[in-house]
Amino acid sequence: MFIISSKNPLLKAQREGYAVPAFNIHNLETLQVVVETASDMRAPLIVAGTPGTFSSAGTNNLLALAAARRHYNHPLAVHLDHHESLSDIENKVMAGARSVMIDGSHLSFKENVALVKSVTAFCHRYDASVEAELGRLGGQEDDLVVGDNDALYTDPAQARDFVGQTGIDSLAVAIGTAHGFYHAEPRLDFARLADIRAVVDVPLVLHGASGLPAGDIQKAISLGVCKVNVATELKAAFSAGLKRYFHDHPDASDPRHYMQPAKAAMKEVVRQVIHRCGCEGKL
Ligand SMILES: [Zn+2]
Repeated sequence: MFIISSKNPLLKAQREGYAVPAFNIHNLETLQVVVETASDMRAPLIVAGTPGTFSSAGTNNLLALAAARRHYNHPLAVHLDHHESLSDIENKVMAGARSVMIDGSHLSFKENVALVKSVTAFCHRYDASVEAELGRLGGQEDDLVVGDNDALYTDPAQARDFVGQTGIDSLAVAIGTAHGFYHAEPRLDFARLADIRAVVDVPLVLHGASGLPAGDIQKAISLGVCKVNVATELKAAFSAGLKRYFHDHPDASDPRHYMQPAKAAMKEVVRQVIHRCGCEGKL
């Protein structure tokens, strides 16, 4: 199958000590940039969309666009990022997605476990991989805003129980990263990450990696992170490229022209993230 689950790419990353980047895409052009760049660099790739992205672009449109990239000979995981409902996930798995995040991080531990178990039971019947989150990241992802005071770090003992009870394939951890850009230098709790790694054997996932120093990402990878999520940095580069072009060419009206500098700016960020993840040539 051309659209694959994230399970095997993440297990390979875990064995070999690198991370697979998950890039949030929004339309044809952003999908083209990440697929073409990862393909050039022979890097494993997850393309991710939040519920808002799938409803704005159309689930079937995005999946068809992803499947149409098959001439790159590059297996592609299309990932449901921060999805919160079983029925929404069921519909998208039936439409062809094979990589799922169920985000019950706003629920109590018990409710989170129950929700994630129901998603795992469904997804594993279709060979779809399941990521879940324990703890809570600060910042903003789409319409979801979490204040710093509501952000909660992942507890290692709870993480062990959570993975054991839910049967998930990967675990998103909260160790001090946040969604969106950082206003101050983030201080990640690497000791906590090491404690989680010591009791959890599934691949770990780092959300909120936009703007994180390369050294932090590499240290997180050395402590068990196998998937690194990047969204904000890509959107910012794409928009900046577009704005610069319109500033210099105020009469531009052809999307085939004015999208090119936006794509080029985003491509540079994708290349940098692939380098930071250490996954060039790892396909
Ligand atoms: Zn996230």
